[in-house]
Amino acid sequence: MQHSGLRRIGFLLFVVMAFSSISLAKEENGRFLIGDMSVASGEMRSGYLPVPEKNGIETSIPITVVNGSKPGKVLALVAGVHGYEYPPILSLYRLKNKIDPAELSGTLILVHIANLQSFQKRIIYYNPNDWKNLNRVFPGDPEGTISQRVAHVLKQEVVDRCDFLIDMHCGDGNEALIPYTYWMISGNKNLDELSKKMALAFGIKYIIIDQSRTKDLSDSKYLGNTAVLFEKPAITTESGYLGKTDEESIVRNTKGILSVMRLLKMIEGEPDMVPEPVWIDKYEVIYSDGDGLFYPLTDMGYYVKKGETVGYLTDYLGNVIREYRSPFTGILLYIIDTPPTNKGEPLFEVGSILE
Ligand SMILES: [Zn+2]
Repeated sequence: MQHSGLRRIGFLLFVVMAFSSISLAKEENGRFLIGDMSVASGEMRSGYLPVPEKNGIETSIPITVVNGSKPGKVLALVAGVHGYEYPPILSLYRLKNKIDPAELSGTLILVHIANLQSFQKRIIYYNPNDWKNLNRVFPGDPEGTISQRVAHVLKQEVVDRCDFLIDMHCGDGNEALIPYTYWMISGNKNLDELSKKMALAFGIKYIIIDQSRTKDLSDSKYLGNTAVLFEKPAITTESGYLGKTDEESIVRNTKGILSVMRLLKMIEGEPDMVPEPVWIDKYEVIYSDGDGLFYPLTDMGYYVKKGETVGYLTDYLGNVIREYRSPFTGILLYIIDTPPTNKGEPLFEVGSILE
């Protein structure tokens, strides 16, 4: 009696574990449902996630789903949260041509251009309809402005449907930036360990140990942070700069994704883990406190000393308004490298390297 009872519990545990290893989003005989798309096992399908209209403004989000013929994890790859950040966007179109659903274990969700309206109008940071930064309005609001509605669709259809997420960024059209990855710390040890492995597998040597993100589920602000807060291991990557489409930045993204897919056993082979990561345990973004022109005095990737002048701001008449100094000794992760600047916008980011 006891033995058969134990056996029954053992069997139930086995069933629970077997199912929990396969994403809940796999429904109806292995079909993957997202938006109004239904993708059969072993099929690749592209389409749009509609973002509902309000006050005459609507948009959609171009996606591709690759539903592997073998069971496995669901990995979401999101590009174009900022529409002027091109290498991640281009890398996903390349990836689409490389992946064979018959060989894939699990499912890939490729979000090609999350912020399509910014991309169409070639706008940095903001959506041209509400002038909000999509990566500050998560988890979004179905009744809000267009950026909030885009965020809501991404939260419901992508964050909630995936097991792992990579939010892929780069220096925006005005930002000279060296490649780096944000490893966002949630406080949940197992989750943080998985995110750390993803960061190492992505292959970029500079990794920020990011303790600074809000823990507020109702105002999670950033896409990567939203995924982490909803217990999906996630990283935010930065590869590319100044609106360029350079081969090196594109390849860094595609190689990183394939390596993370190997880590998650979605394709065969071993991941290429960063052999000697450079950990950054503190970072600070310095913001402009006026409108005008920014003049950088040093370049991305350079080391700056505490108190060293990094750049200065002038008004539109050419008068110097103020100088900006580094708050501590560290590496310049990015710096604005085109003249226009506005009050409250970033000028540069310094990272302190963990000894
Ligand atoms: Zn970005």
